[in-house]
Amino acid sequence: MRKLELHWKILIGMVLGIVFGFVMTQIDWGKGFVSDWIQPLGTIFVKLLKLIAIPLIIASLVKGISDLKDISKFRNIGLRTIGIYILTTVVAITIGLLLVNTLKPGNGISEETVAKLTQTYATDSGVTSKIAEATRQKDGGPLQFLEDMVPDNAIKAMSDNGLMLQVIFFTIFLGISMLLIGEKRAKPLKDFFDSLNDVVLKMVDLIMLSAPYAVFALLAGVVTSSSDPDLLLALLKYAGVVVGGLFLMIVFYAIVVSVYTKKNPFWFLKEMSPAQLLAFSTSSSAATLPVTMERVEEHIGVDKEVSSFVLPVGATINMDGTSLYQGVAAVFISQALGFDLTFGDQLTIVLTALLASIGSAAVPGAGMVMLVIVLESIGFPADKLAIGLALIFAVDRPLDMCRTIVNVTGDAMVSMVVAKSVGKLGKPNIKEWDDHLDEVI
Ligand code: ASP
Repeated sequence: MRKLELHWKILIGMVLGIVFGFVMTQIDWGKGFVSDWIQPLGTIFVKLLKLIAIPLIIASLVKGISDLKDISKFRNIGLRTIGIYILTTVVAITIGLLLVNTLKPGNGISEETVAKLTQTYATDSGVTSKIAEATRQKDGGPLQFLEDMVPDNAIKAMSDNGLMLQVIFFTIFLGISMLLIGEKRAKPLKDFFDSLNDVVLKMVDLIMLSAPYAVFALLAGVVTSSSDPDLLLALLKYAGVVVGGLFLMIVFYAIVVSVYTKKNPFWFLKEMSPAQLLAFSTSSSAATLPVTMERVEEHIGVDKEVSSFVLPVGATINMDGTSLYQGVAAVFISQALGFDLTFGDQLTIVLTALLASIGSAAVPGAGMVMLVIVLESIGFPADKLAIGLALIFAVDRPLDMCRTIVNVTGDAMVSMVVAKSVGKLGKPNIKEWDDHLDEVI
């Protein structure tokens, strides 16, 4: 296996994991075996990635900002990033809405299937907990998101991966203040963070050594806990529309990469593939973030001044795949339950799916929580929400895996575009996990 490129090793791990998962579903004790003995290995891997996410964000963002030497550059990067993120998200929702309105996957769903899905999932804790979570998130005022972004305790913010925006806020504040006290006085702190950054990137390399085995465990777990294949089949058209839309988004990214940055889009996708495969296996942009950062900086050549801001912010607020899915799912549910949508409703979906994808956490299943808010915005009856979610619940995990690939690829593409626009897209500088190994052993 040594000579194979990383993405091939991961791909082989995934395929073997899926096959193993299927075999285990055929054996009486198979499911229990996978959940007791295999799945924990995948969980440990995801935990390791999450473990280094916060130190990596802090170290690389401080380094990125303090290398800038000029705050106005930061404002420039910041505004471009947010602008492009909003733009790509609107493109994603529009693609989703165009597809779902033309192909109408919800019209072919029989009443019998609706009844079966409702009976199976409407009272499932997976569905009810998502509705409860959405209600909790909705209860704030219009400026709640700003309030939530500012931590009152830096250490507390750093102790919770869900508070990534708070950590980013604190770190930008710290980095800008370091610029303001001047290079000489900030040097000790800068050296510390530079060194921490190198160390954490090395930790990413080491963790990635176990990636092919970990994805085996993760996918075996997904297969053994997936729903009844009959129900999956009934939702094939809907799933096809979401996956088709996601594929078009990847094509859109490839075109932007080729036209704007003048790089080969296949090279871009190949270099990003380990991050994409992890996004698929973990369903979490946050867990994938350390690998996304490593790939974008070392393999694509985006300067840290750009990637250190664009990627962590993107992982939390830019979710093109999620917003596309929310658009398709909202219209699909309305079609299936005979709920007519006006053009105004569709525009409302664009706006709320945009805000919802910003508000979605970068963890598995978060997109479905925010879908509740999208549905409510178009006046979907509250008593039918559980039925609506029940309709799509069976295929949510596989679609979550696919949309997370798009979320991660979108962030990487935007970091390239922003880097190019400020002259910070350079040559790749690949570091292997075993560089300097001979000095240690
Ligand atoms: N799992 C997605 C992510 O982490 C969010 C979602 O769509 O549920 O990017």
